[in-house]
Amino acid sequence: MKNETEALIREVNSDVIRWRRHIHAHPDLSFHEKPTADYIAGELAQFPGLNISRPMENSVVAVLEGKYPGPTLALRADMDALPLDEMSDEPFSSTKPGVMHACGHDAHSAMLMGAAKVLSLLRERLHGKVKFIFQPAEEVPPGGARELVERGVVDDVDAIFGLHIAPHYPTGKIVFKPGVYVASSDNFDIKIYGKGGHGSTPQHCIDPVTIGAELVTSLQHIVARKIDPLKAPVLTIATFQAGDSYNVIPDSARLAGTVRTHDAQVREQVQTLIRQTVDGVVSAHGARSEVIWQPGYAVGYNHDSTNATAQAVIQQHFADGTLEIATDPLFGSEDFSSYQQKVAGTFLFVGCGNKAKGAEWNLHNPRFRIDEDAFAIGVKAHIALVSSLIADGI
Ligand SMILES: [Zn+2]
Ligand SMILES: [Zn+2]
Repeated sequence: MKNETEALIREVNSDVIRWRRHIHAHPDLSFHEKPTADYIAGELAQFPGLNISRPMENSVVAVLEGKYPGPTLALRADMDALPLDEMSDEPFSSTKPGVMHACGHDAHSAMLMGAAKVLSLLRERLHGKVKFIFQPAEEVPPGGARELVERGVVDDVDAIFGLHIAPHYPTGKIVFKPGVYVASSDNFDIKIYGKGGHGSTPQHCIDPVTIGAELVTSLQHIVARKIDPLKAPVLTIATFQAGDSYNVIPDSARLAGTVRTHDAQVREQVQTLIRQTVDGVVSAHGARSEVIWQPGYAVGYNHDSTNATAQAVIQQHFADGTLEIATDPLFGSEDFSSYQQKVAGTFLFVGCGNKAKGAEWNLHNPRFRIDEDAFAIGVKAHIALVSSLIADGI
């Protein structure tokens, strides 16, 4: 990387830290990010050459049009916080009780703002466009990415990249997993309608508790006996609600849970098998049932073409040993997958773990902290990922 670009990244670092601390102190929950989006749009408006739009009021899309024609590359950050009471003890902790940036989305936004500032200063040498996408609601399905995709935000995009801060990797590492890297995630509710009555006369009742108990085990047979073990999903029943006494058989019971898969076909298959199993078990005992499916995020898939770009530019612009190619996908989910269903893209993890600085807690933990030295790496990674648009090099 040229000294001039390295210097710009160093210069923007204090801005990135300031932006991130401001966003961190003023977190917004998913779908309520208008104040954060206003703040980001206000800062971006001060950089030269950015065309800023607000597809939804809680989103910001900024387009940097180069001097020369060329492809359009998109860089994405998310902006939403989590419903947690912050316990990080950072001096810039959340000013909103019960809301905290514990997934690093504050850092994602600030790093992308930093990249936008640096690239806006390089626009005279840019062949093509860079689209900076600040999206709402990554944490809560149906997610903000899906809505932006539906509104055509990536219709003119040739490739997209996203970064996620990762405390389980040390600062200095950049990691991605080619192909499938995160799971699909769908939630479901199962209602069992039996016939309540006195606990001493079960023969006059249809007991939804025993039926529900049978279902909890029967549903695991889907994972253990119906799906190719090499493609095994996760099926978790996290809720079993029924009754509230010692001697009353309740009328109904409710089970609820989540399904995670690494395969789009298995995702469909599991839903069908859950419906069949529920129907079969419940009707065998003379009760009625209802399955309510809440579709979440698709399987996240990193594409070959953008993986090749990511690998090449990270090896070119960062020290040896920075890049790590992961071999195993995660069972977490990411709504970046919504963009990747439409356009080639790669999602990368930027290490931010540093025990000496207290950055040792996992994402979604109320004590979560980030090593701020990771920000310059994230900004530089964003710039490197779109460096193909600058013909004479960055
Ligand atoms: Zn998260
Ligand atoms: Zn996240």
